[in-house]
Amino acid sequence: MEIAQGVHSIGQDAGGHVRCFLVDGGDRLTLVDTLWDADGHRITEEIRRIGRKVTELAHIVLTHGHRSHLGGLAALKEMSGAEVLCHGWEADIVEGDRTAQPVPIVPMRPLRAYLRVYPLQLGAALGVDGHRPCRVDAMLADGDRVGPLRVLHAPGHTPGHLAFYWPERRVLFTGDAVVTYPLLAPGWPAFTLNRKQACASLCRLTELRVDVAAVGHGDAITTAAADRLLSLTEVAHDQWNG
Ligand SMILES: [Zn+2]
Ligand SMILES: [Zn+2]
Repeated sequence: MEIAQGVHSIGQDAGGHVRCFLVDGGDRLTLVDTLWDADGHRITEEIRRIGRKVTELAHIVLTHGHRSHLGGLAALKEMSGAEVLCHGWEADIVEGDRTAQPVPIVPMRPLRAYLRVYPLQLGAALGVDGHRPCRVDAMLADGDRVGPLRVLHAPGHTPGHLAFYWPERRVLFTGDAVVTYPLLAPGWPAFTLNRKQACASLCRLTELRVDVAAVGHGDAITTAAADRLLSLTEVAHDQWNG
């Protein structure tokens, strides 16, 4: 599904209605995250559907090292030869040398909404169901450019969490700093390691006043994105920053 010109959203129910994004700036392709499935088939199908070849995928950028976003990484790198890029703090997790920090086992509130995510939370709490490790080619830092995207360091969910911004399209890839599944939230509370940092990052992302917010879990925000991010920032500040 094309959520903005040249931005294709690909999703699946597993991994908490996780989403990844194929970015077509007219030249070679860039992929933001890789979904849950280990074979990457939804992504390769989308590449072919838009009339491109898998080998035209030049870069795979990762928002962070959580299982839901790393599923297809190793397979896609093998098929495409794409460069894999992420923040240095996440790189050894991606490469399989360190496991992601466990999350709390207590179910998130409101229970009615978050019960659907609980199997995933339990897996992350117990550190089971890892991804297939994959070599990282280069580290990203705030201000870097990859294809048409600008790199924004947006820590909080994890220390090396990145967001990406396509200024010409006014599209922001928030990673897990914003989710719309199972409800609109400044990330899933139990998965957010540092809430103060998450608030500060969200403020910074909100200031971009984007047209589209492509989020890590659930459908992208394609209408009134700037205002909805602003109200979310206020919620996050009230709940998480005292
Ligand atoms: Zn995450
Ligand atoms: Zn996630």
